Amino acid sequence: LGMEQREFDYFALALQWPGTICSSTRHCCAANGCCRSEPLHTFTIHGLWPDYDDGTWPSCCRHTNFDMDKISPLMPILEKYWPSLYCSSSSTCFSGRGPFWAHEWEKHGTCSSPVVQEELQYFSTALDLYFKYNVMEMLASGDIQISDDKKYPLRDVIDTIKDAFGASPQIICKKGSIEELRLCFTKDLEPRDCLTTSAMSKTLTKEKHCPRYITLPTYDPI
Ligand code: 5GP
Ligand code: 5GP
Repeated sequence: LGMEQREFDYFALALQWPGTICSSTRHCCAANGCCRSEPLHTFTIHGLWPDYDDGTWPSCCRHTNFDMDKISPLMPILEKYWPSLYCSSSSTCFSGRGPFWAHEWEKHGTCSSPVVQEELQYFSTALDLYFKYNVMEMLASGDIQISDDKKYPLRDVIDTIKDAFGASPQIICKKGSIEELRLCFTKDLEPRDCLTTSAMSKTLTKEKHCPRYITLPTYDPI
């Protein structure tokens, strides 16, 4: 439709840490956001993002009519592992408001051609990668635990993921805690580093939000 978008270079699977995000949003919402009744002891999905090697990315690439019926088999699992941790609904690129994951499809998923062409494939690809590469198990292999006061060297967290995953992640912090952890993949869905030399300065700017020692805080629902 309209302008041709340059094909992306790689995927980032962005995962978010409820313990960090919910410490600032926990008082705001009803059933489905942070204040859900089960504790979340795992990273949840933020999005599967097509990125360019230069550190930029395409977004909102084409208009699709989101058909909830097509993805109904995945709905329970999306609600569990891809919840919105914010209480505001997400504005989408084209079609008004919807669940967080629907926003991610419109903003990022529509730019994933030719690897991912439609929404069912987008969500199943993201979920497959999420379950195949279990970040909690990777962190446990380096003895990195959920705790409000244990601090880990940023370097150790990165190296632990690197050893287990086979490539370098990107970590984003908020107030000394891990807010987001990104795993990156080639277009064949094989692990690759998130950093490229050309994107380095941009990425380092982001990792600067991380102090040298970081935490993975607990999240207990109210
Ligand atoms: P923030 O400024 O909070 O890091 O990011 C705001 C939004 O920009 C994100 O929610 C995401 O949609 C987009 N974004 C930020 N960093 C990246 C990135 O490295 N790759 C892609 N594809 N999108 C990003
Ligand atoms: P992105 O820009 O990453 O594609 O999406 C971020 C948008 O989704 C923002 O407008 C934000 O308000 C909304 N949003 C809703 N729930 C969440 C959530 O759990 N995490 C993040 N990062 N953004 C969320």
